[in-house]
Amino acid sequence: MKRRRVIYEGKAKILYEGTEPGTVIQYFKDDATAGNGAKKDTIEGKGVLNNRISEYLMTQLAGIGVPTHFVRRLNMREQLIKEVEIIPLEVVCRNIVAGSMAKRFGLPEGQALPRSIIEFYLKDDKLGDPMVAEEHITAFNWAQTQEIDDMMATTLRVNDFLTGLFGAVGITLVDFKVEYGRVWENDFSHVILADEISPDSCRLWDSATNEKLDKDRFRRDLGRVEEAYQEVARRLGILPEGAPGELKAVK
Ligand code: C5P
Repeated sequence: MKRRRVIYEGKAKILYEGTEPGTVIQYFKDDATAGNGAKKDTIEGKGVLNNRISEYLMTQLAGIGVPTHFVRRLNMREQLIKEVEIIPLEVVCRNIVAGSMAKRFGLPEGQALPRSIIEFYLKDDKLGDPMVAEEHITAFNWAQTQEIDDMMATTLRVNDFLTGLFGAVGITLVDFKVEYGRVWENDFSHVILADEISPDSCRLWDSATNEKLDKDRFRRDLGRVEEAYQEVARRLGILPEGAPGELKAVK
C-alpha cells in the first residue's frame, strides 16, 4: 500500500493529500499546545471530539448558506475538506472581554462588549501571530479589500448563528477564531470558511456558572480538559459512539 503524502503538519492537525482532486484530508491529533508552542501535552480523545464538533458546526453553518471547506467526515479522526489557498490570517470575533484582549487593554475578563469586535492576526508562529490592521493586510497583499469585507461579514454571521446555537444548550460564546481559504472558479476567487471550529478555537463558558468549557482549561492548567470538550459535544447532542453518556460536572 502506498503511504499517503503529508501536505502540512500543524500543532493539532495533519493535512494529507485527498482522495479526490481538489480535496484534502484533515486529521485531528490529540496534541495540544499553548503560548505558541511553549506548553505541550496530549489530551486523550481531543482529536475525535474536535473532528465531530467541527463537522457538526460547519454542517450547521452550511445549512444557513455559509460557504465552508467541509465535505464529509471520513472516520473518527479524519474529514475530507476542499483544497483551498489559505489566507494567512486568523480572524477573531469577540463578544465578551477575555484572553489577549483583557491583557492588552487591562480589562477584566467577563466584561460584555457593546458590540461584537473583529480582529485580524497574521498567522506566523515565528512572530507570535501579531495583530494586524486592514491597512497591513492590503499593503502586504495577504488579502484584498473585497476578501476582508467578505471575511468580516461571514464572521459576524457565524457569530450570530453560533451564539444562538450554543446559547440554546446553556453555553455562552465568548470569542472564537476562524480561518478562511480562497477557492478559484476560472478567473474568479471567493473566500470560504476553513480550518476548524471547536473548543480549541472558541471560548465557551457555561451560561449558568461561567465555568470554562474550552482550551483555556489546558492553557491555564485548570484540569479536566477532555471532560470539558465532552460536555460541549454532549450538549450539542453529538457524543461519538462508545463515549460515556453521563459526565460528572466539570469544575
Ligand atoms: O488569545 P486570544 O484572546 O487572542 O484568543 C481569542 C480567541 O481565538 C480564543 O477563542 C482562542 O481560543 C482563539 N485562538 C485560536 N488560535 C490562536 C489564537 C487564538 O484559536 N492561535
